Amino acid sequence: MPIHLLSPEVASQIAAGEVVERPASVVKELVENALDAGAKSISITIEDAGRRLIEVADDGSGIPADELALAVSRHATSKLATAKELFSISTLGFRGEALASIGSVSRMTITSRVADSATGARIRVEGGQEGVVEQVGAPVGTVVQVENLFYNVPARLKFLKADTTERRAIDTFITRYALAYPDVRFKLAEGKKVALQTSGDGDQRAILATLYGVDTAKQMLEVIAEDDPSTGSGQAMKLSGFISPTSVTRSNRREMTFFINGRWVQDIPLNAALTQAYHTLLMVGRYPLAMLFLDVDPEAVDVNVHPAKAEVRFREQDKVFSFVQRAVRRALLAYAPVPSLPPATLWGGPASRGSQPSEPRQAGLDWSMAQDAKQAETAGTGVESEREAEQPEFANIPLLRLIGQIGATYLVAEGPDGLYLIDQHAAHERVLFEKLMLQHDKRNIPSQALLEPVSITLPPAQAALLGEQLELLNHFGFQVEPFGPNIFQVRAMPTLFSGSDASSALRALVEDFEEDETPLQEELEARIAARVCKRMAVKAGQTLSSDEQRALLTDLENCDSPRTCPHGRPTMIHLSVDMLERQFGRKGPR
Ligand code: ADP
Ligand code: MG
Repeated sequence: MPIHLLSPEVASQIAAGEVVERPASVVKELVENALDAGAKSISITIEDAGRRLIEVADDGSGIPADELALAVSRHATSKLATAKELFSISTLGFRGEALASIGSVSRMTITSRVADSATGARIRVEGGQEGVVEQVGAPVGTVVQVENLFYNVPARLKFLKADTTERRAIDTFITRYALAYPDVRFKLAEGKKVALQTSGDGDQRAILATLYGVDTAKQMLEVIAEDDPSTGSGQAMKLSGFISPTSVTRSNRREMTFFINGRWVQDIPLNAALTQAYHTLLMVGRYPLAMLFLDVDPEAVDVNVHPAKAEVRFREQDKVFSFVQRAVRRALLAYAPVPSLPPATLWGGPASRGSQPSEPRQAGLDWSMAQDAKQAETAGTGVESEREAEQPEFANIPLLRLIGQIGATYLVAEGPDGLYLIDQHAAHERVLFEKLMLQHDKRNIPSQALLEPVSITLPPAQAALLGEQLELLNHFGFQVEPFGPNIFQVRAMPTLFSGSDASSALRALVEDFEEDETPLQEELEARIAARVCKRMAVKAGQTLSSDEQRALLTDLENCDSPRTCPHGRPTMIHLSVDMLERQFGRKGPR
């Protein structure tokens, strides 16, 4: 084929690929335009997960009739005039590409009216072909309707994921923007169903509750920090938002959200600053939840490095990084209680290497297990851990004589070969897990009706996921029924967990569904079981009666893999007679 210039339609479709990847990207561009137009109320309607229709209506400034045709042309924007301004951008848009791109891969209709015009105007673009501007009656503001997205790009259509996944991407986007712009009223409807609605009254915690559920929202810690430019950095920065306490974590980074100058930025080094702030406070492989809003001088950040603006670069990356890390750490430590049992002083051995004893630490489970895991890895001569390779995790444990409980967290027991310290939570997790999986394998998980059914409200995306898995839950002995929009009612739960908090168990389950979009059924079942058992197991800090202690120990002895919890962390530390003798100088070193 000889070289030739591509037709404008083809060129436009190619360019559109960068901006419009899936229904959620259309929603993003349109909502950002509405926010740029100063909207106080934004209403989003989607049908068929956005394939059939995406409509975004706002009450913003509107587009004058004589600019409507220009608005849908490529590189036409009202937000930027000179290249210099690229480095001081305060609007979400500036590339002048979104409407043109969307119009080239869908049937798009824009209806708009500005306040000082008596009537509105409408333009239709079909697969990049612009129609004429008509006069119509319309309220002040803009309505953009995008129908049959990708109807002319079948290849794109094929790349779309399942409806639930596409819908979740939209839900996720809207909930985050609703939180970032609490003074704007957001409404998201999927077909006739309202999936999300915010009041626009500025109450961020109320929106947090729709995002994470009421319980978690209540626990989130508030971060407010300002960097004073007079202290040398020469740059004013402000960080605000919410972070989870160390007791609320996720197994992935998906809930770590940063807004930079009002823009959700997904791929940034600041995620590392956030996890560093939690360093030593969380178990390995656990991540915090965070919704953080960083405001910096627009000139200090380059937003023009990615077509969808999902990345940014900072002029002084290190300063921003350490500012965020310090601010989060400070907020975290301000709330973290001091532990009752610092192992560093208890054992004084090499296990304390690397920890900073002067810092207050979070008491309880996560911390102690993180420490245990660390000890297991680093303790060469001090504490001998059962995690070492010579002890396979499925090796049985000898009969143990219970001595008692310490710190309301560990059981102490004596075996023929020394002393055992047992993490009561990890041990109980293991016990519950093996019992549940045994019943599961026999296809018989006894279930017990709750005296009073418990209702829980979930964020829309999670509700959709849960709705699809009700049968699986039923199989696990949870009788759960839809009870209203995003509301479920738990009527029965496995007998094994009777007396425990049903809503907390259910939340643990939903979290697991979130992890992976299409896990293997078998794997999913085991993971669900492990997750629920973790949530239902006794916690560190819970005093157990001696009967309970003894029962736990016996149950653990009967497990197939008593030495680790279902998530692979040790349930016990063994202080062998040999090691004790060496430590007390009764025997020479090895
Ligand atoms: P950009 O947002 O990068 O400027 P777009 O293609 O998204 O580019 O929009 C082009 C122009 O159309 C904007 O600069 C703005 O002037 C106008 N516009 C788009 N959407 C709206 C809206 N909802 N309300 C008012 N004006 C809008
Ligand atoms: Mg735009």
